[in-house]
Amino acid sequence: MIKGTQPLEKTIETSGRGLGGALKAADRDLLTLGIAIAAVILFVGTGGTIMPQIVRSWMGQGTAPDMLLTNAVLLNIALLIFGWRRYNDLHKEMLERRQAEERARQLAERDPLTGCLNRRSGPPAIDALIRKSREQQQEVAVLMIDIDNFKQINDLNGHRTGDHVLTTIAKRIEAELPQDSVLIRIGGDEFACALPFHYHTRDRVDGMADSIIARVSTPVEDTEAHIETTISLGLTHTDPHSDTIATADRLIHCADIAMYHAKKRGRNRHYWFETQMEDELRYRSEMEAGIREGLKNDEFVPYYEQQIDLETGDLVGFEMLARWHSEKFGLVSPEIFIPIAEDMDLIGNLSESLIRKALDDASEWAASISLSVNISPVQLRDPWFAQKLLHILFDSGFPPHRLEVEITESCLHENVGAVRSIVTSLKNQGIRISLDDFGTGYSSLSQLRSLPFDRLKIDRSFVTEIAAEEVSGELVRAIVSLGKGLSLPVTAEGIENGHVLEKLRGLGEIEGQGYFYGRPEDAATTRERLAALNLLAKSAAPVRDKTGPAGQPTEDQRKAS
Ligand code: C2E
Ligand code: MG
Ligand code: MG
Repeated sequence: MIKGTQPLEKTIETSGRGLGGALKAADRDLLTLGIAIAAVILFVGTGGTIMPQIVRSWMGQGTAPDMLLTNAVLLNIALLIFGWRRYNDLHKEMLERRQAEERARQLAERDPLTGCLNRRSGPPAIDALIRKSREQQQEVAVLMIDIDNFKQINDLNGHRTGDHVLTTIAKRIEAELPQDSVLIRIGGDEFACALPFHYHTRDRVDGMADSIIARVSTPVEDTEAHIETTISLGLTHTDPHSDTIATADRLIHCADIAMYHAKKRGRNRHYWFETQMEDELRYRSEMEAGIREGLKNDEFVPYYEQQIDLETGDLVGFEMLARWHSEKFGLVSPEIFIPIAEDMDLIGNLSESLIRKALDDASEWAASISLSVNISPVQLRDPWFAQKLLHILFDSGFPPHRLEVEITESCLHENVGAVRSIVTSLKNQGIRISLDDFGTGYSSLSQLRSLPFDRLKIDRSFVTEIAAEEVSGELVRAIVSLGKGLSLPVTAEGIENGHVLEKLRGLGEIEGQGYFYGRPEDAATTRERLAALNLLAKSAAPVRDKTGPAGQPTEDQRKAS
């Protein structure tokens, strides 16, 4: 069985002896052997006659033996004892050397922490398993396993606990695997397993993947912590209809893609590899490279969506929405690139550069016009986020009370304490905070009351259907009255036509935004719109009039709606 994890407690011993030293030792050993043989021959030759004489003389029955010969026999005995001890030493030395070699082999083949096969020795073991299984008309399934959020486990609990989690999970996986399986620690928090199975029992492999996931999800107990762990798992298997023999590297690669897919689909689950996953991954890595380039080349720009007071029809502000003018992909929606930038840990830089540009643009707008910016939940995990934002704001000279920060309900599930402290720091400086996409998450009334929000934004999924569906209509009505009860102004997102607008107007004092008032526009077009409405700051340079009055749809938009 190859799967067994073997802890390596001892470190390899080094003799510190060079090649020259080894040769000298070999010479000495030959000399010792020669001396021992000579001693044995001498002992047999002389000892046979001298020893009985010595014994008889001690018993007083004969003459004393020749002194020289007696000394020769004693010397002989000393030599024999010396030879015997040398033999024992040699035996011990060889045993130690063999053990050291075994340790060296294990260190080269095994992961020192978990005792699993390592990245170097694992794939050849899978290749061997594939060949053996083929002879027995069996297939080989390869599983890639990645611990979800392992970095956070390490960061929060320290590396010692992280190591404990890794060894515990390795043991749990091993316990679920059948005999003849291969278990490899690929690196970090990634494991690969390979196991033989009969093609018509693929569902058993599915069942085993489920059991591994279930077993691993039992919390890991540590002296100081109780750690919840989950894994994402990707699977693939050799093709029984193919003539070519699959390689371990290819199977690991495919299982890895399936595992990545499982992560994207929410973690703590398993997926079998499918070829289109590989295309998706290729597209994704092109996107990632594009985002990195785009950041360097300043391809991310702010667009602005009008926010209207529904009662008066006045333009009261803009929501900044990010756009990516990519050379390769064209104009890319934030719904595509923001989650990727979040995963790449680039959302902070991206958002900061956009906010800087937006504050710069907004400094040309009239004092009555506010600016809203969206903040990702990932940014709220950064304890320095409030300081960074305030720094950018003070640099720009934009008045804090005209800035509104939108956070989504999902932020509240992560760490309400941290979010509260960020929100409080921002509010202390006069920035307003709104709860975006309200209704799609699960914020409780107590959370709403305990966090000092300034506004609720009703998600567009409820608003767009208000005209048609009674239930959604009731929901919007309920959210508006909830806002009234909590003294929170409400904004309706996604007003697409006049009918929806009419329905909303009947609900009371609310603000609104949506395609009915126009699509989000770039900085220059926004500036032209404001200039036409005489809503540019006094200091801003004049622009040519191009657009209709505030809050009024353009001719195109009227037709479209
Ligand atoms: P959001 O903050 O809820 O923004 C509103 C989204 O709804 C925008 O999509 C907007 O174009 C779209 N929308 C507005 N009115 C209508 C309408 O009448 N009908 C329909 N069908 N859609 C409408 P967009 O610009 O694609 O942004 C999508 C989401 O991406 C935003 O949702 C926001 O969560 C996120 N986002 C945008 N920019 C940023 C940013 O700079 N940082 C972060 N973290 N997220 C951003
Ligand atoms: Mg928003
Ligand atoms: Mg929204």
